[in-house]
Amino acid sequence: MAPKAEVRPRPLPRPLMVEAITSCVETPFGEALRLLKLDVLGTDDSPIPITGYYTPCTHPKVSGSLRLSPESLVPPSANSFGSRNYCPVPGTLINTNNIRGFQNLDVEYLLREEAKKILHDIMSGKIEEGPSLLLRFLVISFADLKNWKIYYSVAFPSLVFKSEMTLLSLRSASLVLSQEKAKSLSKSLKEWRSSNETTVLPFFWVDMSSDSSIVIRQLKDWKDCQDSGQKLLFGFYDNGYRQDYPGWALRNYIAFLSLRWKMEKVQFLCYRERGSEPDLEKSLIGEASFPPPHGWDDSDYVPAAIGWEGEKPGDGRKEKKLKEINLESMSPERRDEEHQLLHLKLMGWRQFPVDLKKLSSFRCLLLGAGTLGCEVSRLLMTWGVRKLTVVDGGHVSMSDVLKQSLYVDKDCGVPRATAIVPHLKERCPAVDVEAIQMEIPTPGNPVSTSVLDDCERLQTLVASSNVVFLLTDTWESRWFPTLLCANENKMAITAALGYDSYFAMRHGAGPGTVAEGSDMVAAMSKLSAEDVLGRQRLGCYFCNDVIAPVDSVSNRTLDQQCTVTRPGLASIASGHAADLFTRLLNHPDGIHAPGDIAGTNSEGPSGLLPHQIRGSVSQYNLLTLMGYSSSSCIACSNAVVREYRSRGLDFVMQVINEPTYLEDLTGLTELMKSADYSRVEWVDEADDDEEFADM
Ligand SMILES: [Zn+2]
Repeated sequence: MAPKAEVRPRPLPRPLMVEAITSCVETPFGEALRLLKLDVLGTDDSPIPITGYYTPCTHPKVSGSLRLSPESLVPPSANSFGSRNYCPVPGTLINTNNIRGFQNLDVEYLLREEAKKILHDIMSGKIEEGPSLLLRFLVISFADLKNWKIYYSVAFPSLVFKSEMTLLSLRSASLVLSQEKAKSLSKSLKEWRSSNETTVLPFFWVDMSSDSSIVIRQLKDWKDCQDSGQKLLFGFYDNGYRQDYPGWALRNYIAFLSLRWKMEKVQFLCYRERGSEPDLEKSLIGEASFPPPHGWDDSDYVPAAIGWEGEKPGDGRKEKKLKEINLESMSPERRDEEHQLLHLKLMGWRQFPVDLKKLSSFRCLLLGAGTLGCEVSRLLMTWGVRKLTVVDGGHVSMSDVLKQSLYVDKDCGVPRATAIVPHLKERCPAVDVEAIQMEIPTPGNPVSTSVLDDCERLQTLVASSNVVFLLTDTWESRWFPTLLCANENKMAITAALGYDSYFAMRHGAGPGTVAEGSDMVAAMSKLSAEDVLGRQRLGCYFCNDVIAPVDSVSNRTLDQQCTVTRPGLASIASGHAADLFTRLLNHPDGIHAPGDIAGTNSEGPSGLLPHQIRGSVSQYNLLTLMGYSSSSCIACSNAVVREYRSRGLDFVMQVINEPTYLEDLTGLTELMKSADYSRVEWVDEADDDEEFADM
């Protein structure tokens, strides 16, 4: 390695010393490594191939360096990034799981192993095909994810011969060459550097045998041209700028020339640039001699090596100074978002990989921003959902402030749809939330002037969402959204509360293809009791009901209207609803996934995917249930969807005005005449007070 600048070099001939190479590790590389660790590597700390980017020195006073950029981490098989200013060089990255693992790495051993690879590449002839292998490098690192730091060290392994290499001469190329030759060399170098094929080859040889023109050749062409007695220069891209020392790459180049081509004395060209032009004043031509090393042909030979950056020969490992990339300069928004997703990414290390891309791109429509809506929206964000649409027609009241976890007292009197937005964004700045103040059009409820507009609005909202959460406070208000989801084949999740029991379910797939354009007949004929995978469809929230949705609130006592539930129940039901959604998202069959039953089905990576979950806190019961769609369901049956597809909102308005029409349409009227059916409750033993009220 070169001594400091103020030390004047000894007169020639003298031992060959070179200017060290340095790494330039860009902050975006650190960010990319951080994400690679989080998203891909997990706990895997085995070595991975990376790419560094090397160039000849282009500055009069500053040495060039090997750059590590985000592209460095793209697997070499998929990495086509390379240009005249980014000559790709293969490297190895060992990223440890903790700082102790980093400190315990046997750096001398690792360096020798890399040097062995270089020696092997020399002996096997790989260098001729890929000269940049001579610049192979090693990075060891530890990504401190919590503190936004990357600690690292870089090594540029260089083979060490027992006997010294001697520098016989070293002068500016412009002084060594005649004007004519300098001009010719300059021209050839320019051609070499402007060709995509050759510009990424940092080692070459210069054929100076012809009087008129100088030709630059690739190492692989050596066999055809050797022994012709021509005058030769062995050229390489030189990272150094100094006039009294060649750059680092010369050492391994000489090792190659000695071991592979059996040379003992060579003339070399240290190629340097100014701007993007060859600079023959700065470039050096020199001569070096080196006695042949012995025993290196042995395949088990472990060569001595130097090359840890910043380390001088004889330095102990203790003195090695770690370099550090501080990622705290990343934009605060990005850091906040990374912080908020960290727990999900860490789940992927040992549990199951959460599909954050899908979760963050899914638009979740939440119908209801009350007790369940607050909990579910918060949990969805915790799961990585970043697009929410919240629909609610009510206002925050003082009694809501404790039960509905997002609101505070100053929200009292404010529409929930207005109040919820800042609370969601305070918790998760990256969330894209749209909130709409609107009543859900509901059968049997007094018809307002805006009901038709509301119907159209809801149609649009459901169509533009990926999943719909039914979290409204009445049973009947879920009818129209359920029908829309069945028609659109849209994921729908329901959560509902009783006094001390709760219920969460995912609706099954819809009965058939959504009508497109005017091909209504085709869409009708495809309606089926099976889903598109040929499985019997799972039921919806209404499949167990044998009465039409009517106003269920007006005739009730206060405790029924206010849906008295045990505190904490909403959190449990919401947890199940949000979790059910993420499991559904993770299932390869999505909405068509069959319903798992605990004890009979085996778990997928994210656990069972039941159709319905029913729990009771008084008995600490939890059941997983499965039910197929009913052919007389008032929301998802073929008859209802067919009617909706053919009559659209006329049909919906008729149901809103005259809910019993649904019973006629689906044959429920007939059914009830034939048997003494009453409404089947979710919990068979439930009395009136325990009937599932919905929040
Ligand atoms: Zn149904």
